[in-house]
This record gives sequence, C-alpha cells and structure tokens, in this order.
Amino acid sequence: MNRARHRLALAAQPVQSDAEAGATPWIGPDGQVMRRLELHVTWHCPERCVFCSEDHRMQAFNPFAATWGRLARVIRTHAGRGVQAVHFTGGEPTIHPRFIDLLRLCRQLGLRTSVGTIGTMLARPAFAEQAVPLLDEALFSLHGPDAAAHDALAGREGSFETVTRAITLAKQIAPGFRAAVNTVVTRRNLEQLPDTVALAASLGVGLIIVSNTTPEGAAADRYAELAVPLDDLARVLPTVPGRAGSAIIRFFGVPMCVLGEHRMLSNDLHWDPRVTAEWARHPGRVVFDDFYNWRPDRKRTHVPACGSCEMSALCTGVYAEFAERFPTDRLRPI
Ligand code: SF4
Repeated sequence: MNRARHRLALAAQPVQSDAEAGATPWIGPDGQVMRRLELHVTWHCPERCVFCSEDHRMQAFNPFAATWGRLARVIRTHAGRGVQAVHFTGGEPTIHPRFIDLLRLCRQLGLRTSVGTIGTMLARPAFAEQAVPLLDEALFSLHGPDAAAHDALAGREGSFETVTRAITLAKQIAPGFRAAVNTVVTRRNLEQLPDTVALAASLGVGLIIVSNTTPEGAAADRYAELAVPLDDLARVLPTVPGRAGSAIIRFFGVPMCVLGEHRMLSNDLHWDPRVTAEWARHPGRVVFDDFYNWRPDRKRTHVPACGSCEMSALCTGVYAEFAERFPTDRLRPI
C-alpha cells in the first residue's frame, strides 16, 4: 500500500494537519490502533548520502522549519490517539534546536523514543549525555567497514568517525543502551557488507538492519548504478548472519526467496504499522500531514512467479521499479 493521506482541511499556508486538529483516531484495516509515530523534525543534513531517500523532500522542504509548537502538538495529539512510541527522523533529527526538549516531552507523556541518525550531535559528549538517558533506542547509519567505504557513500570525509564515535559514546554513557545500525546495501558496498556487519556487532549494537536500496529520492536518480542484481543479493546476504555475533539481523526491502535459509529474518515479518508526520506540498500550500502505513509493501510488487509461492501473503516481493528495469528470474516460489 502506498502512503495514504488523511487530511481534514487546507487553509492558508502553513496548514495544520488532522494530527494537530485532534481528529478521530485512525484504526487500521484489521481493527488495530496505530502505535508508532515517525516524526520528521528537520529537512537538513550535514551528509550527502548517494542513496538518500529523503533527498528530494529535503530540497523541497528545507526552507520550512518545524517549530517546537507544531512538533509538540503533533506528539500530544498522537499520544492522545494511542501512539506509544515516537521515532524521530529527518534529515538529521538531532540537529533540531529543541531535540532534547522533544525527548523530554515524550518522556513526560510516557512515550518510548528512538531516533534515526548518522550520529551528528550524538558524537558530541555534552549532547549525548543529555540525549542518551532520554532515548530508548537509536538507529545509526553505517554504510561501510572503514572510513574510505562509509565516507564515499555518505558524501563527507569524517562521517565514519562521527557515527562510530556516537555509537561508542552511547554505549559508554549507558552500557545497556539499545543501539542499532541501519546499513544500506548498494552495488558499491555489497562485497564489504559482511565486514560492515561484523564492525557493527563489535561496537555492541543489538540490531542490524540491512536495507536494500530503495528507489526513492537520490537513489531513484541513480537507481541503475546502485541497485544490486538479485543474484548478487542471493550470493552475499545469506553470509551476513554468520558475521553478526549476538546481534539480530533484519533484511529490509529484500524478497524472502533470495535470503535462502535466513528468509525468516525478513523485516516483512517484523514490521510495525506507523504513521509518518511531515511536510507535504500541494498547489500553493505546504501542509504538515499524516501518512498512514499499515503494511510494509510501499513501492513493492509481486511478479508472476510469486503466484505459486507459499510466502506471498507475508513477503512483499520486490521493488516495482526494480521489476521494471532488471531481470527478476531469480525470484523463485517457496
Ligand atoms: S517468489 Fe515472490 S512472494 Fe515468494 S519469496 Fe520470492 S518475491 Fe516473495
């Protein structure tokens, strides 16, 4: 399902969303209550990752700041609707000037907190000492096993140093801190992926998400040069769990049938519904809006072979853009 937009009204710019208006709580197609809010708080980032899925939205919305008042209203409204966890994202969310206050507000409301970050502010001790005790989890972006590999993909020299320092600092401040890593797999870093996973495990992270390149933003612009052929995914990905130590591995955006015996590590089986709150552009207007996702099938499709697959009700298939541009004969029914 693509992002479904639910908006009460459009008025003068900027416009409040249904989230801010305190509208009727949204109930999912199977009667479930939405528990997770993904809240975009910035549209800026010090890095320029070659695969950044947010690249186009950052270009479109970086003139529009999300104020404390707006973000606090969104958090309070969703808490009132039954949301129990807030994941802060961006851009780079830790550079929002009220980031610590946003975490404190979540604590006051009894909400769990997490952040998706490349470590920008969490690499600074004074900031990390304030933020880490207010965070339940952080998902750090790590895209290679060394500075040369990571920095080339992140587009900034020093990025590897920043993110590895941030992970280390978080574990020093709170040894039991739930640090996780997201690593995006492209043609450029596929062969180093097992070493990247081993590095993440050595830094003490408990969860490693291996994300296939999503054809969105900058990655859509470069999809032909970044998208990994299915044969190569099938060759390398099943070797990854053996390098993860005690960390849990999840594969995001990868068809289950290319994971071999590790297909139960597909994130399709471990995904929570989420409402994403962020800016959206409409003719003459910018709206801070809600996008509800009840299944992890955004931008995915099944191919004819999936029709006889026992897993097709659980596996969300392959990216539709991939199926249009590359061979999919490696997809084999289970
Ligand atoms: S054949 Fe299709 S449904 Fe089955 S695991 Fe592969 S991609 Fe998923």
